[in-house]
Amino acid sequence: MSNLFGPISRPCDCGSEEPRYPLYDARGIFCTYVCDKCEKKVKSRYRPEIFEDGNYQCDEPIDED
Ligand SMILES: [Zn+2]
Repeated sequence: MSNLFGPISRPCDCGSEEPRYPLYDARGIFCTYVCDKCEKKVKSRYRPEIFEDGNYQCDEPIDED
């Protein structure tokens, strides 16, 4: 059993051994885990507008209550 949201930070998957933290886009949608070392690099794999504009166009349907 793993507790992904526990208080203990796990090291980042990028191998830096920095504590990872969740990366959310401008809509508050979880993207992935990053650390200080790789956040920029990981963000570059996403469209920049998703972190800046909460009204970005998304190709996939999102359930909204
Ligand atoms: Zn990292």
